[in-house]
Amino acid sequence: MAEKKRDYYEVLGVERSASDDDLKRAYRKLAKKYHPDINPGDKEAEEKFKEATEAYGVLSDPDKRRQYDQFGHAAFEGGAGGAGGFDFSGMDFSDIFGGMGGFGDIFGDLFGGGASRSSNGPRRGASLRAMIHLTFEEAVFGCTKEIELTLKDPCKTCGGTGAKPGTSPETCPTCHGSGQVRQTQQSLFGMMQNISTCPQCGGSGKIIREKCHDCSGTGYTAARKKIQVDVPAGIDDGQSIRIRDKGEPGKNGGPRGDLLVQVSVAQHPVFQREGVNIFSSAPMTFAQAALGGDIRISTVDGDVLYTVKPGTQTDTRIRLRGKGVPSIHNKNVRGDQYVTLIVQTPTHLNTEAKEALKAFDAACGNEPGAGEKKKKRHGFRKA
Ligand SMILES: [Zn+2]
Ligand SMILES: [Zn+2]
Repeated sequence: MAEKKRDYYEVLGVERSASDDDLKRAYRKLAKKYHPDINPGDKEAEEKFKEATEAYGVLSDPDKRRQYDQFGHAAFEGGAGGAGGFDFSGMDFSDIFGGMGGFGDIFGDLFGGGASRSSNGPRRGASLRAMIHLTFEEAVFGCTKEIELTLKDPCKTCGGTGAKPGTSPETCPTCHGSGQVRQTQQSLFGMMQNISTCPQCGGSGKIIREKCHDCSGTGYTAARKKIQVDVPAGIDDGQSIRIRDKGEPGKNGGPRGDLLVQVSVAQHPVFQREGVNIFSSAPMTFAQAALGGDIRISTVDGDVLYTVKPGTQTDTRIRLRGKGVPSIHNKNVRGDQYVTLIVQTPTHLNTEAKEALKAFDAACGNEPGAGEKKKKRHGFRKA
């Protein structure tokens, strides 16, 4: 908390005189841009999202806004302790995210449940994450992989209630089923009301007197399961595949979360990839470069013969159309392969080859003496 926090108005990009509508518009725009569901695995976006949410949480509340205008961030330090010392549990996001398809559910994930307005209502399960490793070619052409992970299912014995069959969960006497407790305390700024998760029921609003034996009262059973992952052609290192409804089970009848499978692609000894294009190099002999001829070039589709033009220089780059990576959006559209042709200078020459090269040099009218040491003029030796 001691670090420099950005000014809330600056975070939302609004004037200090901004109206409630301005605030709402600014926040909605940022929330859509940085929402973790839109930027899976992006920590920076998640931080931005949290920052904007916190700023909006304060400025949209007239009392808190007044305190903030007067005291700045100090107004909330040592406060009620949600994420980052700020409690979102009193906020109503349905206004902002209403009708945006589960948009509000993310708050439970991000702020440790502090933001769930009604912990008793249906809630989507959390997302699960997994990683798969692919070869270069598997990423290029797509493949099917199987992963094994532990998935929770609602316990069949108790129907997910966690209570021993024949009994049922009771309404929590501490919070009377709301899952939240309010505490009023005297502070510098007058009476403040803190809302926090009920310590007795942990926010569920229910307590279980006799636990189900099969799930120990959790309401879930966990089992190792195999899940098939269809990897689309053209996927790249670091990208993720979303598999719907294979995450954690929902609460109170809410839908399951999703499984996000991140892809790690191995390096290839010959090919490098940039987007949909592949880069490689291919050797040619000096004679091929000078006279022209067919050389063999590796592509992800197998070797192809390429006819080098007479007089091709080393480092010439050629393009093999359509030998790149399929677009992840349309596998019929492929990138290209760029090949750098490199002239191999011969190293181990037999006498016959040496004589032929000298004859070649002479035929070209070059200065005689190729291959002989010229100690005076080129006296450098390897140390
Ligand atoms: Zn059970
Ligand atoms: Zn309770």
